[in-house]
Amino acid sequence: MNLLIIRLIIFVVLFWAGLKLYRMYREWQLERDTDQSRRLDDGQMVRCSYCRVHLPENDAVRQGDQWFCSPEHRDKFLERKPPPQE
Ligand SMILES: [Zn+2]
Repeated sequence: MNLLIIRLIIFVVLFWAGLKLYRMYREWQLERDTDQSRRLDDGQMVRCSYCRVHLPENDAVRQGDQWFCSPEHRDKFLERKPPPQE
């Protein structure tokens, strides 16, 4: 009878430890995923919506989900096609 209780306790402890490890693994995986996407964002190439030239995201000008090589091209693009107001 005592052996059964000890086995039960061991089983519960193992189950709890497994759950804890699984959660740690999930958190680690999520952290790694966000790190990766952040790294990708840094070196990503974007295209100017006006002249269609490719340039690094860091040097680009962003307007909503559009990218531009310079504020001048952004202004020209917006003059031609104003974005929908939300
Ligand atoms: Zn441009």
